[in-house]
Amino acid sequence: MNFPDERAREARIVVVDDDPATLRVLASVLKSLGKVYLTTRSDEAVSLACRVDPDLVLLDVEMPDADGFAVLKELRTHAQLAHTLVLFVTSHGGPDIETRALSAGAIDFIQKPVHADIVRARVRNYLALKQQGDQLRRWSMIDGLTGLANRRAFDAELDHEWARAAKSGEPLALVLCDIDYFKRFNDVYGHPTGDACLQSVAAVLRGGATSPRAVAARYGGEEFALLLPGIAAADATQVAEALCAAVSALDVSHAGSEVAPNVTLSLGVATKTPGPGERPGVLVRAADAALYQAKEQGRNRVALARS
Ligand code: GH3
Ligand code: MG
Ligand code: MG
Ligand code: MG
Repeated sequence: MNFPDERAREARIVVVDDDPATLRVLASVLKSLGKVYLTTRSDEAVSLACRVDPDLVLLDVEMPDADGFAVLKELRTHAQLAHTLVLFVTSHGGPDIETRALSAGAIDFIQKPVHADIVRARVRNYLALKQQGDQLRRWSMIDGLTGLANRRAFDAELDHEWARAAKSGEPLALVLCDIDYFKRFNDVYGHPTGDACLQSVAAVLRGGATSPRAVAARYGGEEFALLLPGIAAADATQVAEALCAAVSALDVSHAGSEVAPNVTLSLGVATKTPGPGERPGVLVRAADAALYQAKEQGRNRVALARS
């Protein structure tokens, strides 16, 4: 799973207008605010936007092929552009067209002929709003301590991949991991060292999410989850064994552990192909039961759920 980049990136602005002179003016007005991409072709606007992933699209209303409203409608069919802001630009204002533009999902409306300072100020404000929204979206999905997907993001991805697996008939694997004797680790070394340990374990988990759709998440306090779409039981077990070995190889001292001199994980693996009417909770419960077995069998090990 790819999260939006944490660093603030340079703003990207797409301008669509059939009049080259207007495009030139807007390009020069906006160039100080970010990278500007231009097209006179409304039929190319959506493919350009999909390629560029813009923060904001300035969209002429009157164009010979598809008009601005048609382009906006098509933009909104692309999930990746769901949060892109659209500003209409038109020479024919008035309450009807402005109401229609705002109702269609445009953030605002600019009248031609454009006034350079007003357009720049308005676009700057909207770009700031977009960046705040992006930051809040990132924070709503990412665990603050470890940088992994948080529980909310994990649950959403699990639902999504479960539905996908139900259609494709592919298996979906889940590895649930729990640090052994972690309460005692905190007791011995203190909470801040416990936090650092969680970060080191999280880095190992992140390394286990090698395929593009794999999700490494902080599932709860000292519990982690690795969702592996399209992976069968034998391969998922191998991944879990590798995680178990990698955490042990971190060689983080753990004087309070009864199983090893260092920090270890117990892991439960389950794989399912969704049956008719089955919910993803089935997979979580199976992985959790396997994790419980791994604990019961002595910790610092992997257990595979019976299927
Ligand atoms: P077991 O081997 O059976 O899993 O034992 P355990 O001690 O790991 O299990 P338990 O569930 O009793 O303890 C989990 C501990 O994880 C308790 C809690 O203080 C700690 N923990 C949870 N979240 C955090 C965190 O964000 N930071 C730190 N430092 N500790 C945390
Ligand atoms: Mg036009
Ligand atoms: Mg636990
Ligand atoms: Mg534990």
